[in-house]
Amino acid sequence: MGDTERRAERLVKSDAEWKRLLSPEQYRVLREKGTEHPGSGKYYHWKEAGAFLCAACGQELFSTKVKYESGSGWPSFWEPISPAAVEEITDTSHSMTRTEVVCSRCGSHLGHVFDDGPKPTGLRYCINSLSLSFRGE
Ligand code: FE
Repeated sequence: MGDTERRAERLVKSDAEWKRLLSPEQYRVLREKGTEHPGSGKYYHWKEAGAFLCAACGQELFSTKVKYESGSGWPSFWEPISPAAVEEITDTSHSMTRTEVVCSRCGSHLGHVFDDGPKPTGLRYCINSLSLSFRGE
């Protein structure tokens, strides 16, 4: 079975429900495509081994095995835990063309992906700490 077939069913909630479930800061980033201040996030310098989950729905998104210090001010990963875990969307806001990364299950905003990452993928998934929760090994 391919990744597409394994993709979890979509989780759909109203804005009112998300507001009830998330902190105001998380709601602003996850549901309104906000960005936390660089260097401010809980997981920027995180060293424990485990997995990062979507803070909105709990889907596994990134392993700490592919986390690296990008110097950007945001947690950075060179690949998602599975290609099916995230969706990538062209974002032309703020007079830039960027690639937005969202959770494939609940559609929440995670961050952006850039092509200046390390080998082997050359990608930098630049993700807000506020969009993540952590589960240790
Ligand atoms: Fe999610």
